Order: sequence, then structure tokens, then C-alpha cells
Amino acid sequence: MALGIPSTRTDRAATVRDLLAAGHRSFSFEFMPPRSEQAERRLWDAIRRLEPLAPNFVCMTYGAGGKSRDRTVDMVGRIAAETTLTPVAHLTAVGHSVAELRNIIGHYADEGVRNVLAVRGDPPGDPMGEWVRHPEGVSYAAELVELIKGIGDFCVGVAAFPEMHPRSETWEEDIRHFVSKVRAGADYAITQMFFHVEDYLRLRDRVAAAGCDVPIIPEIMPVTNVKQIDFFAKLSNAAFPAALAERVKAVADDPAAVREVGVEYATGMAERLLAEDAPGLHFITLNHSTATLEIYQNLGLHERV
Ligand code: FAD
Repeated sequence: MALGIPSTRTDRAATVRDLLAAGHRSFSFEFMPPRSEQAERRLWDAIRRLEPLAPNFVCMTYGAGGKSRDRTVDMVGRIAAETTLTPVAHLTAVGHSVAELRNIIGHYADEGVRNVLAVRGDPPGDPMGEWVRHPEGVSYAAELVELIKGIGDFCVGVAAFPEMHPRSETWEEDIRHFVSKVRAGADYAITQMFFHVEDYLRLRDRVAAAGCDVPIIPEIMPVTNVKQIDFFAKLSNAAFPAALAERVKAVADDPAAVREVGVEYATGMAERLLAEDAPGLHFITLNHSTATLEIYQNLGLHERV
């Protein structure tokens, strides 16, 4: 199915904000910092295989601490310098003083990286454990957005939760805090992974009803192996559809068949989201390329290049 989307090759130099303001849909991929040399080779293989699809941006997540954080900063710099892609650097407030956060943001500015995704982060080891702010740090993503915006002309994205953030007690509270991130200067949001399109649509309606029209890009996570069913539900709090779980488990011994089921489900979600006027799609790749390539092909998105 061709979606009639104009080529956005030239938009890759722009910020995500400029792209969305120009009325373009945004298509993007998410990578994680590699933990070993072998993992780094796999990441670069995925980057090189996905690069010809001309995504509008690619994200690099930010880990809980130590070397993986340095690797995020390195990888973002290398993507900016060595590829045709526009990197978006994730940044969290976990364990960082404001001075350290300023340093990282300043480093990105020096490398010409102008896109940052500002998320609060979770306590290392236990996402639902007690959140303890760094004594000289910030408590919430809204403060991180304000900090980044105060440093320079950055385009800043934030997180949105189609099934409500697990720490929020009511939708009213959740939406109020989401809107405060936008009022602090966020230009767009990317959602947590989800598996029911209705959850995304309800979130969008709730945000609009609060008088906020920020673009909310839905995140797509194709299931590619059976172990991911429990892992994703735990990681993201997303309700995994029982019918999809059954279909995946029925072919659990055949990796290609599992991927086929996952890709088919993700393609259906993507088609519906675009038909519902979502401002784009953000694909989690887990540093692989095949499932994303297959969904792109199914959607006819490769034709926009
Ligand atoms: P916040 O917006 O600060 O919200 C956290 C909680 O606090 C919510 O329950 C909110 O309602 C509440 N809250 C907000 N403001 C206030 C206030 N003023 N008073 C009281 N309560 C308040 N994690 C990583 O470690 N690295 C990543 O790279 C990463 N990337 C992500 C990308 C996306 C697209 C998404 C959706 C999540 C990502 N996460 C990442 C996970 C994220 O860090 C966690 O979900 C975290 O728990 C919430 O982050 P946030 O930015 O939404 O926090």
C-alpha cells in the first residue's frame, strides 16, 4: 500500500520540530548503545541497512549509568558525523547533577546535535523503586526540558504513556504532568510501546481535551521472539493482547514464523495509526533491521525515498 507521502529526504537536516511544523509525517528508528564490540558491529550493520530508508531521525537510548552512557554520547556523535542520519539523543535525569547535564548538552551542541529526547528515567535496578533525585539534579522531565531549552536552540521531545505512566494514580494527574512538559518547551512526544491502537487514540484525545496540541508520535514494537511477550509487558507496563500471545506461542519453535506474526500485527497497527492521522511512526529496532524493513515494505514506506 503506497501512502502518498512525499519524499522527506531533504528534511533530515532539520529538527523534528521543523519537520512536523511543515506538515510532514515523521518516520524514525530507535537504537540502544551496544554493550560489546560484537554488539557494536551488529548495531552498525542495522544502521547501514536501515539508512537507505531515509528515516527522519534515529534515536539512541540512554542507560542507567556508567559506560553505556558514554557509549550513547559516542554513538550519537558518530551517527551525526559518519552517516546521513539525524540523531536524537535520549537523556535522563538519573544520577546526574545539573552541572553534568549541562556538560552533556554542551557536548552535543559542539557536535551539531540539536535534537534531544528528555526523559526523567527510573531508579536503576528497579523501575518502580523509590525515585531519589540527585542532590544537585532535577526531579521531573519538565525540569530537564526547561534546562535543555535554556542552554540553546534545541528541539526537545518527551515521553507519553498510552496506558498512563505506572506511577501516576489518575489520568487527570498524568495528563496534567504531561502538559507541564509541553508548557516547559517540549516540541513533540514519543509514546511508550503499546499494543492496542485505542489506547493511543484515547491518550491523544485526553491531551487535546487539556488544550494541548503537541504532536504525539506512536511507538511501534514488533514482537520477534516469544520471550519478548513477558519482557515487554514488564518493561513498559503495556497490556499484551492475549490473541497475539497465543498466535506467537503457537509457532514458538519457528523463529521466522514468530517474526511473521509480529510483523503482521505491527503492520496492522501502523496502518490503522496512519489512517487515524498519527503524525508519524517510531520503530523500536532492538538494533536489528529485518522486522523494521519488512514493516516498511508492507506499508509501502520504502517508496517515499
Ligand atoms: P516524568 O514526566 O518526569 O514523569 C514521571 C512520573 O512523575 C509520572 O508519573 C508523572 O505523572 C509524575 N510527575 C511529573 N511531574 C510531576 C510533578 N511536578 N509532581 C509530581 N509528580 C510528577 N528511560 C531511560 O532510562 N532511558 C531512555 O533512553 C528512555 N527513553 C524513553 C523513550 C520513550 C519514548 C519513553 C516513553 C520512555 C523512555 N524511558 C527511558 C523511560 C522513562 O525514563 C520512564 O518511563 C520514566 O519512568 C518516566 O519518564 P518521564 O520522562 O515520563 O518522567
